[in-house]
Amino acid sequence: MEDLVGLCKRRGFVFQNSELYNGNSGFYDFGPLGSELKSNIKSQFRSQFIHARSDVVSLDSSIISNPKVWESSGHVGGFSDPMSDCKESKKRFRSDQLFWGPVKDEKGDIVCWVCVHEDDTEIMKKEAKKMAKKIIKNEKINVEGRTTIDISTFKDLTFATESDIQNIPSPESLKPTLTMPKDFNLMFSTSVGASSTTPAYLRPETAQGIFVNFKNVMGSSRMKIPFGIAQIGKAFRNEITPRNFVFRSREFEQCEVEYFIPPGDCWKEYHKEWLDFSKNFLLSLGVRDDLMDWDVHSGDGLAHYARACTDVTFRFPFGESELMGIAARGDYDLKAHEEGSGKSLEYYDEETKERYIPHVIEPSLGVDRVFLAIMCSAYAEDEVSGEKRTFLKFKPSVAPVKASILPLLKNKPELVEVAQKLYDELKMRWNVDFDTSGAIGRRYRRADEIGTPFCITVDFDTIEKEGKTVTVRFRDSCEQIRMPIDEVMGFLGKEIDGY
Ligand code: ATP
Repeated sequence: MEDLVGLCKRRGFVFQNSELYNGNSGFYDFGPLGSELKSNIKSQFRSQFIHARSDVVSLDSSIISNPKVWESSGHVGGFSDPMSDCKESKKRFRSDQLFWGPVKDEKGDIVCWVCVHEDDTEIMKKEAKKMAKKIIKNEKINVEGRTTIDISTFKDLTFATESDIQNIPSPESLKPTLTMPKDFNLMFSTSVGASSTTPAYLRPETAQGIFVNFKNVMGSSRMKIPFGIAQIGKAFRNEITPRNFVFRSREFEQCEVEYFIPPGDCWKEYHKEWLDFSKNFLLSLGVRDDLMDWDVHSGDGLAHYARACTDVTFRFPFGESELMGIAARGDYDLKAHEEGSGKSLEYYDEETKERYIPHVIEPSLGVDRVFLAIMCSAYAEDEVSGEKRTFLKFKPSVAPVKASILPLLKNKPELVEVAQKLYDELKMRWNVDFDTSGAIGRRYRRADEIGTPFCITVDFDTIEKEGKTVTVRFRDSCEQIRMPIDEVMGFLGKEIDGY
């Protein structure tokens, strides 16, 4: 992860927001290459989820809505995470990410309690042991024989009672200075206008903008169920502990679809269809299949209104976590807005002459998480001519720079002129690079490091021999082929856009 974060900063993919002022926790800025990559992810979503389907249309709704939207949707009352404070260090924790349990001596008597951050079991075990050692030393506790810790019996802090909390040490102070968990609403509030007395909210998801526009879109675009409305846009969550780089941030982008279907059992089929469609989308972006998995929610893990929810997970360097979710939400959302607004959101099916509140299937993905999964999937190292090479194996469709155009020598105007002309043509269609500085091998290496799939070199054969050919070098194999300069546009079109 450290290598990846280092590369992201060094090559201009991602910067810490407000770095000049020592940062701004949970916020990131996407640099020249990062903003291109992000924009390519979004445009792939637009072309595959919207343009390629005749049953999905797009929407771009406002970030701030009438606060009643968030009351009806349940976000004002319930969009919260449990939070605990350490009274001594003043640090804040997500209570469900702290795990506590006893340390026992050889006889099985409790020696003390420990409390560690959620992580891989082995890391948690190590941290728990370290903490136990420090507490035993600090508190001068007499221990008989070896101590044991059984991480599998640990519970998260939301299970702690008032009396438990008197014993559970804070991971910061190593003393029982944690407060009981309390709900912390994740919505950022703001005020609208000079005289407003009620708070407005920055949207924590793009989905509600879709639900409240259901009638507008249906009426204006004459869509018939089943159909979907997709939205790409910023969302804001005041996460208690933003972490793992852009995986959990306070400002991020979502791509969501609300796919409206009739009530009844048909949701199962549609849900399955969207699971497959979503997975194929991620594969097409270059997210590695062997690092993805499914997490099917059940029991407590399933929201009370949801019929089903399946996450696509990704094995990040910090552990396996949710990349996107595909939920069958029943008619919960439209019903909630019908009740809240007092206006009918029923659909009239002209064929069956039935009226009903549509149900929905919701594929929802975070652009920043997909960005990170693509970076992790693309990161590669090998050896070229005896030298270690770090490169990014981006699919041409998402690569920030599609091709680098290189005149073999920068002091030969006849080469530079031909290369410049080719660059001028290609840049009208794609983000391409023109690089004249340094030896050709160094220029290849620079292009490889930022994941440019093709290097096109104009050399003396281009200008002296018949056929005007250039070399096209492939990033992953380093293989080179010669191709007439007139065919380069068509070749790149097929490789990048598929036509
Ligand atoms: P988590 O359990 O990880 O907090 P969630 O289940 O609350 O996520 P959803 O509300 O289902 O997430 O949001 C849909 C998608 O939005 C997620 O799958 C994820 O890709 C993205 N997302 C949610 N919260 C964040 C965040 N804080 N930072 C970046 N992306 C996020």
